Amino acid sequence: MAVVGFDVGFQNCCIAVVKSGGIETASNEFTDRCTPAVVSFNAKNRTIGNAAKNQMITNTASTVSHFKRLHGRLFQDHSVQAEKASLPYDLVPLNDGKVGVKVMYLDQEHRFSIEQVTAMLLTKLKDIAEANLQKKVVECVISIPSFFTDSERKSVLDAAKIAGLNCLKLMNDSTAVALNYGIYKEGLPGCDENPKIVAFVDMGHSALQVSVCAFNKGKLRVLSTAFDPYLGGKDFDQKLVEYFCAEFKSKYKMDVKSKARAMLRLTQECEKLKKLMSSNSTDILLNIECFMDDKDVCGKMNRAKFEELCADLIERVMVPLMTAVEQAQVRLQDISAVEIVGGATRIPAVKAQISKFFKRDVSTTLNADEAVARGCALQCAMLSPAFRVRDFSITDAIPFPVSLSWTSEADEGKSCYEIFGRNHPCPSAKMITFYRSKPFVLEVFYSDLTSLPFPEAKIAEYKVQNIQPQENGEKAKLKVKVQVNASGIVSVSSATMVLRVSSNESESTEINEIYSHDGADDINIEVGTTLCLFHNHECINSKNVCSSQMNGEVNNHPPDAKKAKMKVKHVVLPIEETFTQQLPKDRLSNYMEQESKMIQQDCQEKDRNNAKNAVEENVYYYKHKLEGPYQKFINAQDHQAFSELLDGTENWLYEEGADQDKQTYINKLEEIHKLGKPVQNRYQESIRRPKMFEELSAKIQSYMTIMEEYKNGSDSYCHIDAMDMDKVRVCVEDTQVWMTNIKDSQDKCRSDQEPAIHSTQIEEKLQVLNNICDEIVTKPRPRVDSPMDDSIQPEQPHNKKSPEDVTMEYTDFVQNEAKNSHINI
Ligand code: ATP
Ligand code: MG
Repeated sequence: MAVVGFDVGFQNCCIAVVKSGGIETASNEFTDRCTPAVVSFNAKNRTIGNAAKNQMITNTASTVSHFKRLHGRLFQDHSVQAEKASLPYDLVPLNDGKVGVKVMYLDQEHRFSIEQVTAMLLTKLKDIAEANLQKKVVECVISIPSFFTDSERKSVLDAAKIAGLNCLKLMNDSTAVALNYGIYKEGLPGCDENPKIVAFVDMGHSALQVSVCAFNKGKLRVLSTAFDPYLGGKDFDQKLVEYFCAEFKSKYKMDVKSKARAMLRLTQECEKLKKLMSSNSTDILLNIECFMDDKDVCGKMNRAKFEELCADLIERVMVPLMTAVEQAQVRLQDISAVEIVGGATRIPAVKAQISKFFKRDVSTTLNADEAVARGCALQCAMLSPAFRVRDFSITDAIPFPVSLSWTSEADEGKSCYEIFGRNHPCPSAKMITFYRSKPFVLEVFYSDLTSLPFPEAKIAEYKVQNIQPQENGEKAKLKVKVQVNASGIVSVSSATMVLRVSSNESESTEINEIYSHDGADDINIEVGTTLCLFHNHECINSKNVCSSQMNGEVNNHPPDAKKAKMKVKHVVLPIEETFTQQLPKDRLSNYMEQESKMIQQDCQEKDRNNAKNAVEENVYYYKHKLEGPYQKFINAQDHQAFSELLDGTENWLYEEGADQDKQTYINKLEEIHKLGKPVQNRYQESIRRPKMFEELSAKIQSYMTIMEEYKNGSDSYCHIDAMDMDKVRVCVEDTQVWMTNIKDSQDKCRSDQEPAIHSTQIEEKLQVLNNICDEIVTKPRPRVDSPMDDSIQPEQPHNKKSPEDVTMEYTDFVQNEAKNSHINI
């Protein structure tokens, strides 16, 4: 089973694979360790990664990049609308209201969902991993930003399914980094000691993520996560773009913003400039040839000016740092290291700002581009049965508070409860007890809209079914389990009806909190019990719930006290998911089908291109050879015909033959080979044939020497039967005659003619000669008895036996043993 971690970034993707020697970063076909998150659609195929990035300028409207943040979003979402304005390709609403992309593919307009686009990218990443591991990749762990909401997470999981991947876990970027950091750390404090606190800061192309983590031996706990989903390297690029747009407007009267292609080129150049400024504080020139209307443009920038332009962005870096530390409830002096990753932390002013906030130097011990993928691969190895990884438990934190709401059976009033607060440990689960007599609906939603990166509060809705009142007419007691799994996805995972429980409560809710360190299925520690009744429409957090219980407003008798006296029967109830952000099954399978058709189409196009390239390569190969070594192996007439064919094919490739189907190229190649192969063979034969003749001649010579020695009575061969030796003689003489004749015929052939003999025939002749003669001349000499007389033969020592004796004795023993197992020798 392959073990793989994918860091799917906003701009770059990184793949880490686990091999027996450890974790390795997989390079793509261009030997790059990062693959651009770009998908380009063309008339005949899709291109993904580096090749697609190269098409951003030439195939602007159908090259999709920067799509990670569109996962799970509605088209109408204001952030989608804001993003739409800056993207060079078209965003469109899909039937379910979600955002999709509109591109030209196979010469037709196509609309793809974001899940499909990410699936295309994942297909490419999977191919790279498979090429690296030389085995099929299915199981994997995929990274996501810690601020991804439930719908975004489900959307990424759907994308993985479309790509044929089984994503074992979605892992928050900064948690993957923390795992990669902690698992190798020696000397972490013991479990009963104060943990080592480390802050991780990841600034990529689109976002800034911070997490504060506590490490003990074999254990990682994420204490807090904070983020600015709209602050990344691209915002720094954008500052430069704005600056140069204004400059070019006044200097060259150019409206750069009116041309998507010009904007793209400027953005790419500004990004390069930004990177150069990280290692250079002097003036750096920006030159773009034929920028707009065939005009060249130039400008300059330096680090000081850049930092001035980006002052507000640099200031914003502070906010999530502050939030993370505050929420982790640690003091700055408690933090023993600050690890930075992500490409944009290379901006000196960003690094300085992080360092200023934490009042310490930042560490760059982890690979800024690869740490996330490596963490994911480690996590995948931990989840895989194929590898043994040292025990290391990970407790993550959920980014946004999650609440549960339901309608009261008595008065239809809406009640809600904050089931998981911000930074609640993850995975974990809570059990809630309801008293109900008929089916009811539970809604899971984000309760703090202001903290969400987009205004989509509803997570899921469940209908708990088959509820019946107790035999005595009282309401049934229901235990409903709500969980947040290892991927940070919240669900109502089970509902159980506890029958024959008599209770005085008309309608009450009991919350049992359960924490798990390793998946909700492994629930092992039960913490606290609260009991509450809600008749209001407002959400209250768990602290309120606890205080209302303490005030005795709800119930003075915990149901468990009564339960102990009763005989109960547990009935598992069906739960219908009446609302989910996940793709419906039929859409998912339709997308999977589409993806496999597109993969097939890409393969066909690849084969077609390979066939075309083969024609092109052979045209140049033969043209070159005809002028050189092949010249004397082709007659003048054929040379002319072949040259004409090659010249004609060369021109054809640029015109009519530029875009033909695979078979046409195969036919063309056959035409070339028909003329070329005989010439190539004659040339190759002219080199091999003399060597083979030499070999055969040497062999004949060696047998002749042996025959001579035999004739002279040599000790080495005198044991050979005369008739056998005669066979050797006949065979050697025949071969000698055959070689003389065939050499004569070959010498009479011109080099541009079909040869009289092929090297393979000489090889066969040599083989026959060897087969017949070797067996005879290498026949072993018979064993010669010792010339000593029996009388003076030394007596064999008592314990030394001839091999025959030993065999006899052993045989004896075996037989005797079969008869009597107690025999002793
Ligand atoms: P995200 O994490 O937001 O999804 P990502 O993972 O694709 O994005 P990274 O690959 O970590 O992002 O970082 C890319 C960003 O880092 C780009 O904005 C790039 O310009 C920037 N970057 C890379 N090298 C440097 C450098 N030497 N100086 C400044 N910025 C750099
Ligand atoms: Mg990243």
